[in-house]
Amino acid sequence: MKKYEKYPLYINNSLHRKKEKFEPLKAPHVGMYVCGPTVYNDVHLGNCRTFVSFDVMYRYLMHLGYQVRYIRNITDVGHLMDTGEDKMAERARLEQLEPMEIAQKYTRRFHHIMSLMNTLPPSIEPAASGHIPEQIQMVQAILDNGLAYEVNGSVYFDTKKYNEESGNYGQLSGRVLEELFSETRTLKNQDEKRDPADFAIWMKATDGHIMKWRSPWSKGFPGWHLECSAMSTKYLGKTFDIHGGGADLKFPHHENEIAQNVGACKVAPANYWIHTNMLLMNGKKMSKSDGNTITPEELMDGNNEHVSQGYDPMTIRFFFLQAHYSSTLDLSDHALQAASKGYQRLMNALKIAKNLRPEDYPAQGDAELDDKIQDQHDRCYLEMSNDFNTAKTLAVLFEMAGVLNDIDSGQIKTKQISSEAIKMLTNTFTVFLEDVLGLEKVQESSSKLDDVMQILLEIRQTARAEKNWALSDQVRDQLAEAGIKIKDSKEGTSYSL
Ligand SMILES: [Zn+2]
Repeated sequence: MKKYEKYPLYINNSLHRKKEKFEPLKAPHVGMYVCGPTVYNDVHLGNCRTFVSFDVMYRYLMHLGYQVRYIRNITDVGHLMDTGEDKMAERARLEQLEPMEIAQKYTRRFHHIMSLMNTLPPSIEPAASGHIPEQIQMVQAILDNGLAYEVNGSVYFDTKKYNEESGNYGQLSGRVLEELFSETRTLKNQDEKRDPADFAIWMKATDGHIMKWRSPWSKGFPGWHLECSAMSTKYLGKTFDIHGGGADLKFPHHENEIAQNVGACKVAPANYWIHTNMLLMNGKKMSKSDGNTITPEELMDGNNEHVSQGYDPMTIRFFFLQAHYSSTLDLSDHALQAASKGYQRLMNALKIAKNLRPEDYPAQGDAELDDKIQDQHDRCYLEMSNDFNTAKTLAVLFEMAGVLNDIDSGQIKTKQISSEAIKMLTNTFTVFLEDVLGLEKVQESSSKLDDVMQILLEIRQTARAEKNWALSDQVRDQLAEAGIKIKDSKEGTSYSL
């Protein structure tokens, strides 16, 4: 029996606004698409929370025995500013770089932050600029189905007609077309649209526009919403299992994605939609203009007025997971201090768990204690399978940490606990903390590095004592090449990365 059969997963499906049993189209395969970053700037801390949330879902799905294809895209074209300029092109102009240099630079920085936060790379990370033919094909399919129209080289999605035929525009965001008319802001190309609720799926480029491609309609570029429709279809099929993103993407991005997919393929793209909630700071929405903002890097190095110190990326990850993904989360220095202590408690218990050996324990223990551990094990699964409730799972892990501490202090005696129970306790605690929640200490390797450095520094010390300057310099220089500086002082030799 697969784990996913034993612990069936329930997901709060934003499409139907209710919790539903997760039934993939072709178990054990699961297709999951998550909207990735627009790489014209450093990733926002709120987006980090979103990507950590989906990382945990990805990990848990795999832990349950599913084979997951996880697609997270890179938006490097077509995301326009209110001024009508492409976000990438605007940044390129400001930094005096090629738009593709901007995309590469911020993609690398994004990957760096994501690896510090211990998120697993997705199975495929497609970039919009690498999928222009697929997007052109999709525009053509929508035109062929009579749900888009061309004006002066630009192609617009006919929202009203689509709604008349399908009756479900606004299904995801809960908005109705009439409301949208009054809300839609006046854009430059408003007059080309038949209706204010229509949106561009292909835009003719102006002469000054740098990122443009040939198409049957004009030299231009795809609308922002189109890439996710085209790339999810390409890699996951017309209909797939899970589509996710931040709640701010529900409208218009995801609503328009659904319309495009149905418009082109005549079927809805995803069966389950998952949306993550907002990250606040000091009780307020993060906003650059109010100064109520902090970047992931600033939070890690403490270089921001809102924090008293830098926080370890794992403390930040733990802090994110203390709340359910669908709740707002309020970041503050105080809350991070508490998270830091809580995370440390779990890590101390992890150390105890890793040192326990089931063979040291008897075949029979105290039945009550065995039952307690079985119950904790079961609740880890039940909480995670209940819409990925990381907050409640962590609460169970804290209870288990309590048992581990009692074993360590001798309050629970060896004869009281069976070998099987010890096995279950240590396995469950380690697997949920490290594999499922991804809270393993990434710097674990640095203690190994310490050992290796100690050996090298001793070799260098011996060389110096023997006046073998060539060898001692070689050790120093080659370490420097590897990015490790060594410093001699009265107290001895130390190193820094
Ligand atoms: Zn998207």
